[in-house]
Amino acid sequence: MRGVIMYGPGDVRVEDREDPTIVEATDAVIRITATCICGSDLWPYRGADRVERAKMGHEYVGVVEEVGSAVRTVKPGDFVVGSFVISDGTCEICRAGFPSSCVNRVFVDGAIGTQAQRARIPFADGTLVATPGQPDPDLVPHLLAASDVLGTGWFAAVAAQAGPGRTVAVVGDGAVGLMGVLAAKQLGAERVIAMSRHADRQELARHFGATDVVEERGDAGVARIKEMTNGLGAHSVIEAVGSQESMTQAIGAARPGGNVGFVGVSHDVQLPGQLLFFSQVQVLGGPAPVRRFLPDLIQLIWDRKIDPGRVFDLTLPLEQAAEGYRAMDERRATKVLLTP
Ligand SMILES: [Zn+2]
Repeated sequence: MRGVIMYGPGDVRVEDREDPTIVEATDAVIRITATCICGSDLWPYRGADRVERAKMGHEYVGVVEEVGSAVRTVKPGDFVVGSFVISDGTCEICRAGFPSSCVNRVFVDGAIGTQAQRARIPFADGTLVATPGQPDPDLVPHLLAASDVLGTGWFAAVAAQAGPGRTVAVVGDGAVGLMGVLAAKQLGAERVIAMSRHADRQELARHFGATDVVEERGDAGVARIKEMTNGLGAHSVIEAVGSQESMTQAIGAARPGGNVGFVGVSHDVQLPGQLLFFSQVQVLGGPAPVRRFLPDLIQLIWDRKIDPGRVFDLTLPLEQAAEGYRAMDERRATKVLLTP
């Protein structure tokens, strides 16, 4: 089969890779229908994370080809959406709703790499969710979004306790930030403020439910959010970048007693103790427990109540993955869908 390998920063190749097979009784092998490039794939691409011959990709939807003897919830022929973290679904951490920190956790990126034609998914029951039937082709990008970017934005909104009567500010206008806007709106937030400087992303944010757009960032962004909230700050803030500036901005924009949900993969972020102490905000983040939300998200998409797949603005064949990485690196695309 064909699959993407990142040899080093800026060096993405599509190569022949070994075909996956069932190894453990809890495995499934799936044929991947659609996959994509994540904003987090740009960290190694730009040299911010170490990378050497890594199997890339962790977002995926596909059709089950084969399952091990212990798999109960998916069967050959099922169309499935999977989480970007392999989880057993049975340990205490999984049962508490945090499968992305499962005691048997495996990150799909690197270990499996779903920018490929097929994949072996360990702990299939704890990782995959079958759709109610075979999806219409136009639903596939939306279902693919649920695999990470929507699930991550959703977790951020839940962690930030977005809901009725709450004002939610979203720091970051990449795909995850936009999904945070969508999630906040779906969870019933009264006001959703997208922090964005890009006209096309502002428009998409409004489509997903943003009621306001703030172009300022850093201290000026915080000041603007306070101005819009009677000097108090937002009830809920979603952080979807992972930089020092975005994290400081997120904590600064939340009111005392408010909640920050942070899902940008943290890079060199230092939080001063005094900032945390006096901000008096509740902070929850990390790799999103996407598997917890998948059944609900799949249903919302199946019923055509949300259209998260609109974050994909470029579709390329898997063979042209290198061009997809370049397009995202150069910000010519927000998110690239790859078809194996
Ligand atoms: Zn677990």
